[in-house]
Amino acid sequence: MDYNIGVIAGDGIGPEITDAAWTVLGKVAEKYGHSFSRTDILMGGCSIDATGEPLTDEAIESAKAQDAVLMGSIGGNTSTSPWYRLPPEKRPEAGLLKLRKSLGLFANLRPAYLYPQLKEACPLKEATADKGFDMIIVRELTGGLYFGERHTESYNGVIQATDTLTYNENEIRRIAIKAFEIARKRRKKVTSVDKANVLDSSRLWRKVTEEVWADYPDVELSHMLVDNCAMQLVRDPAQFDVVLTENMFGDILSDEAAMITGSLGMLSSASLNETKFGLYEPSGGSAPDIAGQDIANPIATILSAAMLLRYSLDLDTEADAVENAVRQVLDDGIRTRDILPREGAESITTVGCKQMGEEVAKRI
Ligand code: NAD
Repeated sequence: MDYNIGVIAGDGIGPEITDAAWTVLGKVAEKYGHSFSRTDILMGGCSIDATGEPLTDEAIESAKAQDAVLMGSIGGNTSTSPWYRLPPEKRPEAGLLKLRKSLGLFANLRPAYLYPQLKEACPLKEATADKGFDMIIVRELTGGLYFGERHTESYNGVIQATDTLTYNENEIRRIAIKAFEIARKRRKKVTSVDKANVLDSSRLWRKVTEEVWADYPDVELSHMLVDNCAMQLVRDPAQFDVVLTENMFGDILSDEAAMITGSLGMLSSASLNETKFGLYEPSGGSAPDIAGQDIANPIATILSAAMLLRYSLDLDTEADAVENAVRQVLDDGIRTRDILPREGAESITTVGCKQMGEEVAKRI
């Protein structure tokens, strides 16, 4: 099949890590008989330099015309880069917010997987790390507290600030559907996280999630209060498969889940809209401190490309092949320097960003 893939290389290490992922996609195309045509799209600091805007309308239209978009990362050194002397709406990050909004990306997916080969980086108890974990956090991205009405006023000389957490049933339904669909591609278990003992919005969340569940009898559903979930993530993360939650809870829990893997350079993410379209990017930033040195870890971007294959193109076999190739690379003792073991480094081969892409591609 022929597919159109947009590539937002972005700033800092962005071009290096997206090129490494593209090498892997090239191997997938060759092995499985597909054609991926690449359209480069400007966003972030490089777009400011070229056009004066972090994201142009032309770039948005170009992104919309693709089957999916793979992104590196955007932004520069926030203390020294001239991009951060611009007004907030002209800075690199404004481009990403505008793109998410223009494409209606309401579902954020962040997998947290503990590679046995990297388990010493896991900050949890050894017995917990030995069990491993493999979960995906499905976070609602365009509603809730971050998008509700807010105001600050003074009553009798006392300043008061208000934020509102609003969800309507349609917003809950569409993210719940995504979570159940994703669970069907995994271990078929959804844990819906809320605060239904206190919040009306959470009670509606529970009700609508159960209604959606009726269409997915093959998937197991359980509910968990968010405070308990925060504890369970460090006590027994192996219990989770798909964690479904609203915007703010997801913001916090997905960072907690990322932290327990211990390896930022390994964490992929995706933001999806109501169609199959998605924006796929590593969880890390543009790492200006190591940009242009060919030492960045491209695995998070390569795994984001695997998510793109799975969720936007429905190429599950190909996605499995990429994920297995990453595991094989780690088994073979090949590492970028950010994931070097503390001990036993003599049996390890340290490679740069480009070579890591080639090593993964070789194993597909
Ligand atoms: P960062 O994630 O870029 O870097 C934090 C640390 O992790 C650095 O030491 C960096 O070298 C290291 N690191 C990150 N990715 C790595 C990789 N793939 N391989 C090896 N090491 C890696 O965070 P920061 O320094 O706080 O932010 C730098 C810039 O990135 C800022 O402009 C920030 O706004 C931007 N940013 C962009 C995104 C995005 O594009 N979605 C996300 C987060 C931060």
